[in-house]
Amino acid sequence: MTVRTPRSVSIAGADPGIAPISALPGISPSLVAALARLGLARVQDLWFHLPLRYEDKTSVTAIADLHVGERAQVEGVVEAVERGFRYRPQLKVAIGDASQQTLLLRFFHFNRAQAEQLLPGTRLLCFGEVRHGAQGLEMVHPQYQRLSGDDVVIVDELLSPIYPTTEGLGQKRLAGVISKALALLPPAEQLELIPPRLCAEHGLTSLRDALLYVHRPPPDAHLGQLTLGHHPAQQRLAFEELLTQHLSLKRMRAAVRSRHAPALGGDGSLRQQLLTGLSFELTAAQQRVSAEVARDLAQSKPMLRLVQGDVGSGKTVVAALSALAAVESGYQVALMAPTELLAEQHLHNFRHWLQPLGIEVEWLAGKVSGKARKQALERVAAGASVVIGTHALMQEGVAFAQLGLVIVDEQHRFGVQQRLALRDKGKDGELGPHQLVLTATPIPRTLAMSAYADLDVSSIDELPPGRTPVQTIAISNARRVEVIERIHVACGEGRQVYWVCTLIEESEQLRAQAAEVAHAELSAALAGFKVGLIHGRMKPKEKQLVMDAFKAGELSVLVATTVIEVGVDVPKASLMVIENSERLGLAQLHQLRGRVGRGALASNCVLLYQPPLGQLARERLQVMRETNDGFRIAEKDLELRGPGEVLGTRQTGQLSFRIADLARDAHLLPAVQQVGERMLAEQPQQTERLIERWIGGAARYVHA
Ligand code: ADP
Ligand code: MG
Repeated sequence: MTVRTPRSVSIAGADPGIAPISALPGISPSLVAALARLGLARVQDLWFHLPLRYEDKTSVTAIADLHVGERAQVEGVVEAVERGFRYRPQLKVAIGDASQQTLLLRFFHFNRAQAEQLLPGTRLLCFGEVRHGAQGLEMVHPQYQRLSGDDVVIVDELLSPIYPTTEGLGQKRLAGVISKALALLPPAEQLELIPPRLCAEHGLTSLRDALLYVHRPPPDAHLGQLTLGHHPAQQRLAFEELLTQHLSLKRMRAAVRSRHAPALGGDGSLRQQLLTGLSFELTAAQQRVSAEVARDLAQSKPMLRLVQGDVGSGKTVVAALSALAAVESGYQVALMAPTELLAEQHLHNFRHWLQPLGIEVEWLAGKVSGKARKQALERVAAGASVVIGTHALMQEGVAFAQLGLVIVDEQHRFGVQQRLALRDKGKDGELGPHQLVLTATPIPRTLAMSAYADLDVSSIDELPPGRTPVQTIAISNARRVEVIERIHVACGEGRQVYWVCTLIEESEQLRAQAAEVAHAELSAALAGFKVGLIHGRMKPKEKQLVMDAFKAGELSVLVATTVIEVGVDVPKASLMVIENSERLGLAQLHQLRGRVGRGALASNCVLLYQPPLGQLARERLQVMRETNDGFRIAEKDLELRGPGEVLGTRQTGQLSFRIADLARDAHLLPAVQQVGERMLAEQPQQTERLIERWIGGAARYVHA
């Protein structure tokens, strides 16, 4: 492989990787702060902050040759500009090129200077995703630069890496600082933590070359191969990441097994009261799993149990029963969820169930601040029985008096390390808390071995009675107008509708924008009905208001990003439209669809797709139409993903890896396990360094 060697800079000390980022030249405090928000603190964190995908700006495409769904670079001259204020300020700029076609650029966020610069006759070079608009092809919020009359367009020589980033930190600045860090990469032998003999035995190529390749793909790099994640450089990094994960799980398991936990037998009184008060009977599966959990809790060694159950199988009440076992025994329970929205739903359910039993439920989310936060923390420290929140629960300063049980919902959103962090909260004294993990993602056995090596598994393999399966159809986006017409009719019948925007983008901001566009479109088309909007950039209060309005039936349609993917429970909603469904993995589609079909109403799901469909996408949509069974879908998912996926696998993977993908890279696992055993036996100290390198930063990384 061709690799460009960076200019070398010397920095004092044997290991430049552990130097703070501020030691790099020309780094401002604001940049350090922005990087810290991504969990990046040391130089090596930058080495291992890997691209999410790549953009190809190495050529210019004629407007006549553009394809919907692809990202392309276009050069053109502004032909017309329109500033609209119909639903919200909007700037529409039509550009044309030598192919005699027109492309519309649409901006929802723009300032005056920007609007004034985009005058007819201006030459522009833009890059963005091509979409279908009401007036033909368009790009929403393209990147663009103005060219003066006689500038010759110079295209990039290399593919541009796109990194995960955060607000206030642009790709350019991020790439710049990563580049400075790469200049400090030590020689190959020094960087390598896997012993050379093992590298040779397993054909592992140089880590240094691999890093340089993925950060700066050389001119002959192939976008398709990189997108699939099949390049040897990516595989080399995936190997090391999987190895690290494996080693850290082994270490963690050993540590946990050596600890003691309080025996939470309880007398069953609170649990009995809860059951008596419920408006339904537990299913046989819920009863069985609750009993398994209760048996573990009564032991004086920590429970590590994963409860998997399909969407809607009723995991929450099982969690509540376990919580009560802890409370009956005088211990505290912490429940954490991956999103604020989901945590709030749990808060609502738990208060509804537990308050009648005289149990207060504390709320501790990232956004609880000031005096409210201080008081909540005091109550937690004083022994409040049940605490619910997001990962803020794990932040420093949260001390529990007697934490007996940690419940983590929807595990696939968390890294294993985050679980570990919360587990440590309880370790004052000798006793560690028990741990219950809830997930709707069934885990095929091959993966469970590796990814969940530290957990025992229970399954809720039965749905509550009276659910009507969701009818699913796939419809081409070319028939979008018809679909919207059907929504109109459905609203008229009093049905409630989710419209899900699924753009896979590197920032919550871009996702939010896509949802805003759909919201404007639907608001205009569905006159007389209220259309709400919810996305990850809204404040928790705003989100809650919108969710409440939707729950109360005040909104007919809820336009949402995949923030609603996990756990949202509005039983009355009976129609869901998923845009760009061809881009999502089966697991995610299934999760999303699980938001409807929760009540007695017959429900429908419309999978809108952008033709032409690839073979894999076609099969996925077919499976979705055929079955509602999460286990069958999971099996099919693994089967389809085996040969490798195109887009979106990293986003839909079960653990938050930087580069590895358990389905795509499952073939690496046997070697990972072998190398792992040998390293633990021969060089345990290297294990620590690997974990620090790959996970040290991630543990500080908080997903938006
Ligand atoms: P999930 O497993 O997806 O988290 P929930 O716990 O949110 O599912 O339950 C989904 C819905 O089913 C909730 O409205 C819940 O109250 C209801 N439910 C749970 N168990 C039963 C049951 N045994 N019978 C009837 N409804 C139930
Ligand atoms: Mg749930």
